[in-house]
Amino acid sequence: LKVFFKDLIINTQKRRELIDITLEAAKALSDSKVIDGICVINSTHTTSSIIINENESGLKEDIINKIMQDFPQDGSWRHNKIDNNADAHLAGAYLNSSVTIPIKNGGLILGAWQSILFLELDGPRIGRKLIIEIMGI
Ligand code: ZN
Repeated sequence: LKVFFKDLIINTQKRRELIDITLEAAKALSDSKVIDGICVINSTHTTSSIIINENESGLKEDIINKIMQDFPQDGSWRHNKIDNNADAHLAGAYLNSSVTIPIKNGGLILGAWQSILFLELDGPRIGRKLIIEIMGI
């Protein structure tokens, strides 16, 4: 069994933003030499998420707008007394902080329209850290 780790560091540009990390995950898999197994990608932050969906510009705006509707920044959230980003924590808590993707024949098993997207919820930030762990044979 091989176990391979890679840190993926991302700088974000906006408060809320979706960034495609599919190519970085595929590169990590290539470096790992794993042929069959699983790939876990985990965000180490409380105000971000990782989702799998279609990388289409209109849809990405729809996702951001839906999050802003469901978790308004000016809500009377208690955590806003601490550092004024409760909306980002709440959205992060209700979304995934990690994804797991099967690996077969040296490739990530993703559908034709599936991309791996890092969701920034409280940017812009320097040095967002994601962990890619690949296990298999
Ligand atoms: Zn906070």
